[in-house]
Amino acid sequence: MRGLARARRVRGVALAFCGRHADALAELEAALELVAEDDLLPRCKALRALAIAAEEAGALDTALDWGVRAAEVARALGDPVQLGNTLLSIAVVRSRSGEPEAGLQQYHEVLALYEQAGEQAGCANVLNNMGINCKNLGRHAQALEYLDRAIAIGETEAAAAGACIIAALNRVEPLVALGRRDEALATLRQAIERTVGTGYRSAECHGHVLLGELLAAAGDDAAALAALERAVDLATRLGGRNHVARAHKALWALHKAAGRFEAALVHHEAFHEAERSQFNAESDRKLRSLQVRFDLARAQHDAAMARMESARLTAQTRTDALTGVANRRHLEERLRDEYARALRNGHPLAVAMIDIDDFKRINDRYGHATGDVVLREVASLLRRHCRDIDLVARYGGEEFCVVFVEAAADDALRVCEAMRAAVEAHGWPAIAPGLQVTLSLGLAERDGADGRQALVAAADARLYEAKRHGKNRVVPEVRPAA
Ligand code: GH3
Ligand code: MG
Ligand code: MG
Repeated sequence: MRGLARARRVRGVALAFCGRHADALAELEAALELVAEDDLLPRCKALRALAIAAEEAGALDTALDWGVRAAEVARALGDPVQLGNTLLSIAVVRSRSGEPEAGLQQYHEVLALYEQAGEQAGCANVLNNMGINCKNLGRHAQALEYLDRAIAIGETEAAAAGACIIAALNRVEPLVALGRRDEALATLRQAIERTVGTGYRSAECHGHVLLGELLAAAGDDAAALAALERAVDLATRLGGRNHVARAHKALWALHKAAGRFEAALVHHEAFHEAERSQFNAESDRKLRSLQVRFDLARAQHDAAMARMESARLTAQTRTDALTGVANRRHLEERLRDEYARALRNGHPLAVAMIDIDDFKRINDRYGHATGDVVLREVASLLRRHCRDIDLVARYGGEEFCVVFVEAAADDALRVCEAMRAAVEAHGWPAIAPGLQVTLSLGLAERDGADGRQALVAAADARLYEAKRHGKNRVVPEVRPAA
């Protein structure tokens, strides 16, 4: 199960990587289902993968839910790196949801966790994100500070090499904003150099776009052209629509400024084409994420309905259809369990057998339908006088049985007397003029280990006595004084 869960999680992450967000989310949900509730580490990883996939699909509120659940599990796990990872996912979502300040706060927390755990690559990664948030907040100098720290880590830590390249690219915009163009250019050239042969193709592509824009702004027409054409070429091969669009846009501006209108037109059209397909991809993605959410909600609804239906069926097999109290079968089961528990713990247990007096006459005089109403009213009056843990059951016909759990004989006797009085005083004439209903009750208490049948038989014997002595009364078992 664990292996399968892991395989499905990895497959889900791979699907997300390929941009197949809906499939990824479904796969990750399936992976989560396979993980046992108390298997914390795989659970944490699956939840976090779901948070990331939902974030990439643009379903930010869902992403936040998964992230929060992942963090809860990580806390229970007590692993600072896992906690850092999950908080990082949450911070990314918050930053993307228009809360860069809150995201930044959370990144600080994550950084502290990674530092404490000596997780260098994690530190570089989170510093990068902190730099981006600061840049977006217009705090360029601070952005550079964080990005420089990320680069410093990447220079000594092989695992942080990717984060280092990305940090170098992220430095460009704040440097330009601060008027440090030469420095931006140097950083950029160095970063691009580092991407070559390391497989960071998307970063290489991004680097050429930035370089082209920077050179164009500096008036270096030929070099800008070369960089941007290289970017278009790379981005087209990689399928990076946003880079394609941005590069064509820069090329269009470049050609137009140089009076090369024919070339400008070509890039203008290519730019719009790339933008359109980017928009389509974006809206496809949103549609798919909506579809996923819809499917998810429907599955949850179906599951809830199935649970309710099964609960209803279970309740039905335990309940007497006419009166709504427990049926004979459920009484047997509960009595068996309660008797065993009382015996084990040395607790008292009392049982009352209850019979409606002269019920046949009621039926004969008022009709069977009124008889049924009487049965329901009596059941409801009995229920009202018991505690929730006690069990009221219809024993059969017009007989009921009440199991008083952990109740001493005096307490049970008091309740029986209250039940008897309540039935006698009930507003029966409102149901049928002249109607009067009374009960006879026999009460017995568990005595040693005679067994539950003996207990019921003893209560039944007291009931018989109550009938013999004139009905409408409670007869408790008289125990010889100890
Ligand atoms: P006693 O005081 O000695 O208990 O007399 P009784 O008339 O109550 O006892 P008896 O056992 O002679 O009659 C019970 C009656 O309960 C007979 C039966 O028709 C009726 N009864 C059993 N189940 C139902 C039911 O579900 N609905 C109705 N209306 N009557 C029922
Ligand atoms: Mg009877
Ligand atoms: Mg009766």
